[in-house]
Amino acid sequence: MDDPAEFGRGLARSCRRRGDTMNPAVRSALRRGWCPGALRPMATGDGLLVRLHPPGGRFSAADLSLVARLARDTGNGLVDLTGRGNLQIRGVRPESHGDLVAGLIDGALVDPDEDVGPYRLTLVSPLAGRDPTDLIDAAALAGRIERLRREIGGLPAKTSVIVDGGGALSLDRQAGDLRLMAISSTHGVIGLPDGSWFGPAAVEVLPGVTELLLGRLAERHRAEPELVRRMRDLARDELAGLVAPLGFGRTTAPPGRPRPPEAGIVSEPGGTSAILFGAAFGRCTADQFDGLAAIAEAAGAEDFRLSPWRGFAMTGLAGPDLALAEVAKLGLIVAPDDPRLGVRACPGAPACSRGEVAAQSDAAMFARAASARLAGGMTLHVSGCPKGCAHPGIADVTLVGHDGAYHIVLGGTAAGRPMARLTAANITSALAGTGDIGPNLQGVSSS
Ligand code: SF4
Repeated sequence: MDDPAEFGRGLARSCRRRGDTMNPAVRSALRRGWCPGALRPMATGDGLLVRLHPPGGRFSAADLSLVARLARDTGNGLVDLTGRGNLQIRGVRPESHGDLVAGLIDGALVDPDEDVGPYRLTLVSPLAGRDPTDLIDAAALAGRIERLRREIGGLPAKTSVIVDGGGALSLDRQAGDLRLMAISSTHGVIGLPDGSWFGPAAVEVLPGVTELLLGRLAERHRAEPELVRRMRDLARDELAGLVAPLGFGRTTAPPGRPRPPEAGIVSEPGGTSAILFGAAFGRCTADQFDGLAAIAEAAGAEDFRLSPWRGFAMTGLAGPDLALAEVAKLGLIVAPDDPRLGVRACPGAPACSRGEVAAQSDAAMFARAASARLAGGMTLHVSGCPKGCAHPGIADVTLVGHDGAYHIVLGGTAAGRPMARLTAANITSALAGTGDIGPNLQGVSSS
């Protein structure tokens, strides 16, 4: 399906079947032979996976209804929320892919003029632009950076820029190639992946700074595409050398902020409120999307925004309590102390063909067992294999699927060195209770 010509033929067949006159965007996509992103599906264990990258991670209620219908009609009815604020429609049948793409283009959920990734450069908090605790309008800054995206050719597909307004919805835990962080209403600092910080820089120059730094990354990627895929692939000296000509000195890292609330009610300027809620391990159903669209319409919500912690914000609400209660009825997570919010888990087996364990169902079991530890702030990552898709960063405990059991990594990533190999049952008993988890895991591994 990666074959552009086959994509075009499939889409044309779908339009003919539907008796549609192709809209100009679809026709343009066909002329160019292929479309990327949502239009270039990936084969997984449960069928094709189609990823959507909505600008700013935003959707209307009508958009959610459309995604629900397409996910049901062309896929297996499951939709995943990713850690980068994207949506993935799962289980798409190859013969239905053209119908899905045509529906997405018709609904303006896919830009047929895109070439190759990155499809969205920036990651912002779900309330960027309407969070009274933010120091700047991070959505506006991110919008200016997005407009540069096509100017900088040849960026690696996964390039990302964290744009943090400096408020309560901290993005400290999100990984990115560059980090722009507001420290006042007029200035920000620039963070590099080696943990170094530069600045302060006036907010209005940050898009230009970003363009220069990412332009250099693109150059290096073009020269050594296999070796340089992310900013972190550049040596420390080279990273520092990139910033030196810009005239900013090194500065101290901004103070860390508490983990952001992932569920609950947040006041907005102007007297309305937003509600934040999560989906367990990022997994939603088409029925839940339909339910959310109905709640938003009844409540007069403004829009939905995907969060980088696999949840949503529903904004512009006059009656947030009622809306949150209705969202709870859909089985989504509305309590900030729900232990599942402290667990990152990928689809695992059987949905992912590389999965060596049933990561999602095991994660639900582990979350229940570890509720006291998770409430105390422990982070837990359950990964179906060493690729670590659900969480590229460090977690207190990372469980990596291996031949039906788990390798245990403490204080590392899914690619880290394991200290033990345990079954799911052993891990469940070790996670219960409180105290230092290391000796517990050692205890069950030696018993
Ligand atoms: S971490 Fe492995 S099992 Fe999980 S989604 Fe990624 S590739 Fe699949």
